[in-house]
Amino acid sequence: MQLVQVRDKQFEPYLSEAVILQKVKGLAAQLNKDYEGKKPLLIAILNGSFIFAADLFKHMTIEAEISFIKLASYKGTRSSGHVITAIGLDTEVTNRHVIVIEDIIDTGKTLTAFLPQLYNQQPASLKIAVLLHKPEATVYPIAIDYCCFTIPDKFVVGYGLDYDGFGRNLPAIYQLHEEG
Ligand code: 5GP
Ligand code: MG
Ligand code: MG
Repeated sequence: MQLVQVRDKQFEPYLSEAVILQKVKGLAAQLNKDYEGKKPLLIAILNGSFIFAADLFKHMTIEAEISFIKLASYKGTRSSGHVITAIGLDTEVTNRHVIVIEDIIDTGKTLTAFLPQLYNQQPASLKIAVLLHKPEATVYPIAIDYCCFTIPDKFVVGYGLDYDGFGRNLPAIYQLHEEG
């Protein structure tokens, strides 16, 4: 097994680039169908979702917009427990068909904190699309409308996801390697 080093930790291959891309293309095809004629607004949550959002969006063939916000809650390999809005939303969501794009739902805290802000602006509809979901770690349940992969409660990096700022540029997804 080919381990990769990110900062002080070792990670093992988990989801290959090809497997990820196949799922992301499948999700884009689904959204093309579900949102035909609706001109949806995708809201991607930085930093973690930037590669997922880009791959997803470039495979969407319907008329659609994308905008970004930046929320942060993680320190190292554990959720810090509180959510900071580092860059807010600058796009009107009232009467829009909104799709929130998130890299991973872990405890659910980030989206639980952010979603009321969107609901308050009365979008025409609001759905959640995530690359990864860790159901065993979820403390604040979120109704996920589109999910590419359900994964165990293990820390992952790559394809936009970081460990302490690094590892986002790995094209595949890697799991924390536990020795022994
Ligand atoms: P939540 O608020 O659901 O606990 O966590 C959401 C955010 O924490 C995600 O958007 C992601 O940025 C980060 N996060 C959660 N689990 C992981 C993980 O396994 N690896 C990485 N790199 N980030 C994670
Ligand atoms: Mg995220
Ligand atoms: Mg992070």
